[in-house]
Amino acid sequence: MNSVVINLLYIAASILFILGIKKLGKAESARAANRLSAVGMLLAIVATLLYGGLDWKFIIIGMLIGGGIGAYAALRVPMTGMPELVALFNGFGGIASLLIGIVEFVKIHQTESATYLANLEAQTGIAVPFWFAATAISLTILIGGLTFTGSLIAWAKLAGKINGSTRFPGQGTLNILLIIAAVVAAIWFSLTPDAPNLAIVVGALTVIALSLGVLMTIPIGGGDMPVVIALLNSYSGLAAAFAGFIILNTVLVVAGCLVGASGLILTGIMCRAMNRSLGNVLFGGFGAASGKTGAAVEGEMKPASIEDAYYVLESARHVVFVPGYGMAVAQAQHAVKELAAILEERGCQVEFAIHPVAGRMPGHMNVLLAEADVPYEQLWEMEATNRVIESVDVAVVIGANDVVNPAAKDDPSSPIYGMPIINVHKARTVYCLKRGKGKGFSGLENALFFRDNVRMLYGDAKATISQLVTEFGEE
Ligand code: NDP
Repeated sequence: MNSVVINLLYIAASILFILGIKKLGKAESARAANRLSAVGMLLAIVATLLYGGLDWKFIIIGMLIGGGIGAYAALRVPMTGMPELVALFNGFGGIASLLIGIVEFVKIHQTESATYLANLEAQTGIAVPFWFAATAISLTILIGGLTFTGSLIAWAKLAGKINGSTRFPGQGTLNILLIIAAVVAAIWFSLTPDAPNLAIVVGALTVIALSLGVLMTIPIGGGDMPVVIALLNSYSGLAAAFAGFIILNTVLVVAGCLVGASGLILTGIMCRAMNRSLGNVLFGGFGAASGKTGAAVEGEMKPASIEDAYYVLESARHVVFVPGYGMAVAQAQHAVKELAAILEERGCQVEFAIHPVAGRMPGHMNVLLAEADVPYEQLWEMEATNRVIESVDVAVVIGANDVVNPAAKDDPSSPIYGMPIINVHKARTVYCLKRGKGKGFSGLENALFFRDNVRMLYGDAKATISQLVTEFGEE
């Protein structure tokens, strides 16, 4: 097929990706944004298939296996499993790029560097020097490999299969030595194109990349996980972009750079949300380096009945709902929306205060509340809620824990000290909905639940909210 047509399709796909990302910035246009990007991806795939000389047998087998796994995941994975699925998809992106790197290396090894470069020029019309191809292959293997294993560890941590952060003496030094070894391997590869022992060098680079993913992710845990998830997402994009440089595929470079850049911006947002620097998250360890565990919490949690909560909510003029991971587990968003609508009908001002790291993936709460059609203007950012929290009659905390833990403000010995939180403890009355005495993701006890203005509504959040809705219905 004419390469002009293919390139025009690639440009159209790139434009759709960029428009898609731009429209994702607003909740109202997010669905259309997803559709635009999906059409862009379809165009990119069709354009790639128009290249001559492809082995259709493998393409069809690949599409059936990949499409089958994707369709199964989209249909069967529950909403509560989405964060783990996103972590795995980052990992799949990483290994796909790693495999492109290895396949291209094998081609160089099987032919000769000069033949490889000549074939590449014949296919793409672009001539590149060997050092360029070798550097792109090395970076793809390095970043793709560490994204793959790093994402598997992140998945295991989100799924609760690995807890906390794992550190051992000399871990930082080992990481630095491995990075130096990776750089040496990459330079070796660039400088000795046709050396017979190159397979060992590239094999070592692959093992280093896979090991680095594990070593760099195991020490990060607790409240720092959102930063890692955003960073791995960015790495998966960077790996794809470098893979695009190997096979000189423009749309792969564009899409990879978009994911890489947006992932980096998200990483910055997550760091700000935790009030941590990236270096501190990556090398500091969550509470591990300082040995901080937080002050012991004393007192009693005071349970309340549904009737108590009903009477207080009934007379409230201003209510703020603060959703957290427990709302996702309970799938309580539709019931919460129903309760919010009842309160509004009675003339009460209602908002939802969203903490940037609430839940288990960036934007988790926004996705759930959008699914329940909660109006966008009712979703308030943490800072906006904190400005008015003292005048709020009732704060209803729905399965949130770490993001409302006052230790972040007043306990310097707490690992989350300094992290901005939603200051619900300053509201006049607070109801906390949770099943029992479970801790937050960071494993910390929460002094909020013991405060005088706080009452506990024990039970599954959806059942509790539904009972409150029933109370209002019986008026
Ligand atoms: P937390 O994980 O701190 O707390 C959730 C609470 O929900 C638990 O205390 C649990 O208590 C309660 N809960 C669980 N199931 C239910 C249910 N069915 N009904 C009612 N309550 C329930 O949640 P937050 O949202 O406050 O904080 C998010 C944490 O996750 C932060 O530490 C953040 O750093 C981390 N994280 C965030 C990511 C992100 O990208 N947003 C990614 C990875 C980690 P009980 O067991 O007693 O019911």
